[in-house]
Amino acid sequence: MTIQKKTKPSDSNTAFAKKQPIELIGSFDEVFKTYVRSLPTGILPIVLMGRTTKAPAEKYNLQRDGISQSMLHEYMECPYAFMFNAQRWHRSCEKQTTYFGSLFHEVLAHFIEFPASVLRIDRDALSLKIIDDYLLKSPMSLPSDELETRKGLTIALISAYLDHYAEDFKKWKPVEVEQTFDVMYKGRFRLRGKIDAIIEKPDGSIWKEEHKTSSRINEDVKCTTLSMDLQNQFYTFVKKRLLGLPVVGTIYNVNRVPQLRKGKTESVSEFVTRVREDIAKRPEWYFYRFEVIYTDRDLDRFEIELTSWLEEIEQTVEGFRIPIRRNICSCDNKMYPCEYIAMCASGQTNGYKQVPSLFTEL
Ligand code: SF4
Repeated sequence: MTIQKKTKPSDSNTAFAKKQPIELIGSFDEVFKTYVRSLPTGILPIVLMGRTTKAPAEKYNLQRDGISQSMLHEYMECPYAFMFNAQRWHRSCEKQTTYFGSLFHEVLAHFIEFPASVLRIDRDALSLKIIDDYLLKSPMSLPSDELETRKGLTIALISAYLDHYAEDFKKWKPVEVEQTFDVMYKGRFRLRGKIDAIIEKPDGSIWKEEHKTSSRINEDVKCTTLSMDLQNQFYTFVKKRLLGLPVVGTIYNVNRVPQLRKGKTESVSEFVTRVREDIAKRPEWYFYRFEVIYTDRDLDRFEIELTSWLEEIEQTVEGFRIPIRRNICSCDNKMYPCEYIAMCASGQTNGYKQVPSLFTEL
């Protein structure tokens, strides 16, 4: 596998990343095993904690309900968090989010699917219409000034992105945009997901495209770890090995969220103009991309690891692999603390609810 970082379409800097083995963890506790096997169906961690009151109607089933890469990732981070999520527990109040990524993805998906629209003189107005349509379906509870600012920032960043990668929009053909997959693996693991885009380059090669919006990305770390990125490998494996699309690898786009802050006396439009000027001055800070090729050997190895994780999860949810571990190192190591921190610490479901669907995004 190779990773190539490209700040512009023509850039040819190359960096190679080393792979690290994924360490399997876990122990088998016979006492808990006996105990849990005797329990009725229900979420194991909640029952084991013994302090929560509400048991779910139906136990999560890997074959029937399926698993996405984000759930797999969650299991790797903390099996407890996975089990809460698998039983569709979520905070009653809105999840903490920056909202920026959702708007950016929504607008960009349109331009990738219809590349000719990149040349429209009214493309900013088109972006605004896409955002407004999206907000009708998925309202964001933000003060109006804040919402207008997010919309303006999204349009500014999208516009600059379309200029920065203008040549690619002329040459690359969309194969799939925001398409979901739902496929059975080994007859018992239902794999599900949605891929940002799949494109075909002029040489006929097929690539998966990912877009990440973030304000905090360490370029060097990202370059090194992309070779073992779970999402990239998972999607490439599914598309190539299970669905037969010859995907070469991933074009991984990093789009930095503007760090400028709106001044107290500044209007939204003055602020957005200032952001546009900043992006025009240093586009390479805002946009860069890596091209990661996953060879058949990479996918062979990933398949072994994936199968191993899925078997572990299967045993966990069926109650044959106990204890279900809490990974307390994951409680507060990201921008936002674990969604289940209150539930997990108190054993109470106050402030949480069970939603009807496991995969709202699919
Ligand atoms: S609060 Fe910590 S231990 Fe509990 S589910 Fe979240 S990450 Fe796991």
